[in-house]
Amino acid sequence: MTPYPHLLAPLDLGFTTLPNRVLMGSMHTGLEDGRKHFPALAAFFAERARGGVGLMVTGGFAPNIEGWAKPFAGTLATSAAAKRHKLVTDAVHAEGGRIALQILHTGRYAYQPLAVAPSRIQSPISPFAPRELSARGIERQIRAFVRCAKLAREAGYDGVEVMGSEGYFINQFLVTHTNHRTDDWGGAYENRMRLPVEIVRRVREAVGPDFILIYRLSMLDLIPDGSSWEEAVMLAKAVAAAGATIINTGIGWHEARIPTIATSVPRGAFAWVTQKMRAALRAEGLSIPLITSNRINTPEVGEQILADGCADMVSLARPLLADPDFVAKAKAGRSADINTCIACNQACLDHTFKAQLASCLVNPRAGHETTLLIRPAPARRRFAVVGAGPAGLAAATTLAERGHEVHLYESSAQIGGQFNMAKKVPGKEEFSETLRYFGRRLEATGVLLHLDTRADAQALLALRPDAVVLATGVRARDPKIPGQDGPNVLSYIDVLLHGKPVGERVAIVGAGGIGFDVAEFLVTPAGHSPTLDPAAWLAEWGVADPAQVRGGVVRAQPAPPARRVTLLQRKAGKLGKGLGKTTGWIHRAALQMKQVEMIGGVNYERIGPQGLFVTYGEQRRDGQLIECDTVVLCAGQEPLRELEAPLHAAGVPVHLIGGAHEAAELDAKRAIDQGTRLAATL
Ligand code: NAP
Ligand code: SF4
Repeated sequence: MTPYPHLLAPLDLGFTTLPNRVLMGSMHTGLEDGRKHFPALAAFFAERARGGVGLMVTGGFAPNIEGWAKPFAGTLATSAAAKRHKLVTDAVHAEGGRIALQILHTGRYAYQPLAVAPSRIQSPISPFAPRELSARGIERQIRAFVRCAKLAREAGYDGVEVMGSEGYFINQFLVTHTNHRTDDWGGAYENRMRLPVEIVRRVREAVGPDFILIYRLSMLDLIPDGSSWEEAVMLAKAVAAAGATIINTGIGWHEARIPTIATSVPRGAFAWVTQKMRAALRAEGLSIPLITSNRINTPEVGEQILADGCADMVSLARPLLADPDFVAKAKAGRSADINTCIACNQACLDHTFKAQLASCLVNPRAGHETTLLIRPAPARRRFAVVGAGPAGLAAATTLAERGHEVHLYESSAQIGGQFNMAKKVPGKEEFSETLRYFGRRLEATGVLLHLDTRADAQALLALRPDAVVLATGVRARDPKIPGQDGPNVLSYIDVLLHGKPVGERVAIVGAGGIGFDVAEFLVTPAGHSPTLDPAAWLAEWGVADPAQVRGGVVRAQPAPPARRVTLLQRKAGKLGKGLGKTTGWIHRAALQMKQVEMIGGVNYERIGPQGLFVTYGEQRRDGQLIECDTVVLCAGQEPLRELEAPLHAAGVPVHLIGGAHEAAELDAKRAIDQGTRLAATL
C-alpha cells in the first residue's frame, strides 16, 4: 500500500517498462561541456539512478556545432564522443537506472556566431544574428539529429529526447514569429512542422523500434504569434505517427515575459495544458503517453496530477537536484524527509546562465558528488553550533550525520533564522519546506537542539566543546537617518516577522533582496498570494487558454496593489540589479504591475511625520518629500559575532559561517554551502 499509487505505477512502453512515473527532466549542469567533467557527470546520474527515478534525461547535447548553446558546448557527433558517454550510461545501468540523451539544437538562441535558424531574425536573448539556412542546410541539420540519436544508442543510452520546445531551433520553424520562409519549410503550418516530423521519423528509422524517443513539444509558447492549439495538436499527432514513444510538455519560450518555473509560479500551474492535449489525443484514439512538467516538487503534487488524468508521467528536474532520493523516500512513505526544491534558481539556473557549474541551494552536494563527501567521522567529538538559521542548520545536521555530538543553540523559539521572514513573502511560500526538512533532519541525526537559549561564552565553555561553530547571523544595518526613531518607521523585521501594522502609503529604504521582498509583501493583500491561487496567478500574468488565443498570452490583469509603495536606493541606475540572474526580471515586473515606484540615486535627508525627505546627487539638490504613512528600513545587514573574541581568548577553536562570517550580499546559498562544507571536514 502506497499513498502514491499513480506516481509509483510502472509505465509499459511495449519494448520496455519504466518502474514508475517520475522522469528527471533535462537540466544543464555544465558537466556536459567538458570531457574532464564526465566522471562527475556519471556520479551525478548514478546517485539519482540509485534514488529510484523512473527515467532520466541528460542536459542538452548539441548534434553539431551550429547547434551549440555556447562555444564548445557539449556535442555528440562522433563515435569517439559516444565512447566517452559510456562512462555515464554504464554508471546509470549499474544502479539499475535508465537514461536518455537530450538532443538540443539552439538555433537562434545560440550564444555563438555559428548560429543558424529558419530565418535571419535575431533573438532578444543572444547578441548573434543567426544565418538563414538553405534547404540543403536544413537537410544537414536533420542528418545531424539522426547521427546524434544513433550515437546515443551506440553510447548505451536507453533513448533520446528531441528538444522541440522552449523556443529552440525546432520550435523556431513552427511559428511565423521566427519562420518567414517561403519554400517548403515555411508558409502553411504543414510546411513549418515538417522539420520535427522529419527528424522524429528519420531518428526512429535509424534507431529501430526498441529505443525510447521522447519529443518535447511546446504546448504553450507564451509569445505573440505562437502556435495555435490546433497546430499544437496537429503536431502531437504527427510526431506520434512518426514514431515518438512519449511526448513531453514544453511551456513558454525562453524569451517569454511570463515566469514558468520560478518559485512564485504555483505548483503544477501548467498541468492543465498537458491535460488538454491528452484529452485531444485520447479523443482520437491515440494512447501515446504524455509527460507534464513545471513546478511539480512533491510526491503529493505529482500523484494528484496523475490521478486527475493530466498526464501519464510527471517531469521533475530541479527537485532531483535537491534530493536524489526523492522517489526512494516517496516509496518508503517518507515524503516528509524529502529535501524539497524551493524553485529559487539560485544555484542551478542562475549558475548556468553565469557559465558556472550548477548545484542546488538546499543540497550543495548536487553536481559535486565526487568532491563533497559526507563521511563518518574518524572519532566522535563534541561541537556547539550557535544559531539555527540555514548556515547553522546545515552545519549541525551534517556534523551529527557524521557521528559527532552536536549542541545547537537558538535564541528564538524556532529554527530557521531569516527563512522565517522569507516564507512570509507572497511567492516565497516554498521556503517553509526547507525548514520542515531541516526540522526532520535535526531529529533524524540526533542534534541536541536548545531553543529559546541565547548561548553566552561561559555556557559554551562549560560544555567543553572541541570547537564552536558561530552561525549567529546578522543584525539590521543602522542607516542613521535623522528621524528614524519616529513612530512611523519600522524595520523589515517588524514588518515580516512581527506583523506590525503598516500604513497605506509606504517608502522603503533599500532595494536589495529584502527591500524587494518587503515591497512584494506590502502590495499583496494579506492572505491573497497569487502563488497559492493558480487561476488568479494565470490572470495576473496574462496566461490564457491557447485554444482561445494563439500562444496563450493576453494582457496581464494584475489585482490592484494593497498599498502605494515607493522603493528607494542610493545607487543610481536600475533597481534590483543584484537580484538573481534568472529571477530579477520577475521581481521587477511583479512590482511594476503593482505600480511600485522605483527611485535610485537618492540621499536620505530625514524622516518626519509627513514622510521621507530625499535629495539627489552629490550636491544634494532637488529636495523632495516622499509622502507616506510608514517608512520601512531595509538597508542591509552587519555580521553578529560577539562570541568570537571570548571563545578565542579561552583557546576554543571557532569557525564563522553564514552571515556571521560575511553579511554583504549574504544569501542562503552561501550559508548552506559553507555550513555543509565546514561540517564535512571537522
Ligand atoms: P542587500 O542586498 O545588501 O541590500 C541592502 C540595500 O540597502 C541596498 O539596496 C543598499 O542600497 C541599501 N543600503 C546599504 N547601506 C545603506 C545605508 N547605510 N543606508 C541606507 N541604505 C543602505 O541586503 P538585503 O536587502 O538586506 O538582502 C540581503 C539578505 O536578503 C540576505 O540575507 C539574503 O539572503 C536575503 N535575500 C536575498 C534575496 C535574493 O534574491 N538573493 C532575496 C531576498 C532576501 P544603496 O547602498 O544603493 O542605498
Ligand atoms: Fe531548486 Fe533552488 Fe536547488 Fe535550483 S537551487 S534545484 S531551484 S532549490
